[in-house]
Amino acid sequence: MKSENNAIIIPEGLLSPSTGGTKGSLLLHACCAPCSSAIVEWMLQHDIRPTIFYFNPNIYPRQEYEIRKNESKRHADSLGIPWIDGDYDHLAWLQQIQGLEHEPERGARCLQCFRIRLTATALQAQKLGISHFATTLASSRWKNLEQINQAGLQAQQHLASLTTPSYPLFWPQNWRKAGLQERRNQLLKQYSFYNQRYCGCEFSYKPAEEDKTAPPHPASEHGKG
Ligand code: SF4
Repeated sequence: MKSENNAIIIPEGLLSPSTGGTKGSLLLHACCAPCSSAIVEWMLQHDIRPTIFYFNPNIYPRQEYEIRKNESKRHADSLGIPWIDGDYDHLAWLQQIQGLEHEPERGARCLQCFRIRLTATALQAQKLGISHFATTLASSRWKNLEQINQAGLQAQQHLASLTTPSYPLFWPQNWRKAGLQERRNQLLKQYSFYNQRYCGCEFSYKPAEEDKTAPPHPASEHGKG
């Protein structure tokens, strides 16, 4: 492992052979364009060219999902980086978090949400023969970093149980370090990115009383209410 800026540690497998690595490849799960921007910039500056995987079936409603997805694509296109459109099946996501709807943010629902997204990322990396995976979720101060790393390592273990001896490795990293939080805010303005007001799912949406743009509760839309 090589330390960069005393904060970001590049896995050996992603380093070039001249610095003792094997120069693998990286699939970067992107939660949104603002959170991806400084991370991708840092990676490119450090000779890591990621493929972006946009897989976020947690986002509700669909209109919000499309806005965030298009911003992620716009960001990748501006840098000439490969970008993969993951499936959007919000009903399946709801089924997978069933029973956790009333959990607070940073609680058990969020851990499960991270597991769903990072397991899909690990499977996609395996499918493409990519050696490592990481996530931009780990750049947000609103999220629990331990939960994200736990979910990533569980996804790696899941793949290991299916595809030994070769499976993608998770890169656990706190992406708030090395000045990337500040750089994120600069790039947000530079790109004029859409900046979401809530984490993503309907349970994280807290509209103001007078906010007429609030999405309908899923119970009514999905015929459960
Ligand atoms: S609050 Fe965010 S991380 Fe938690 S379940 Fe909802 S979308 Fe996922």
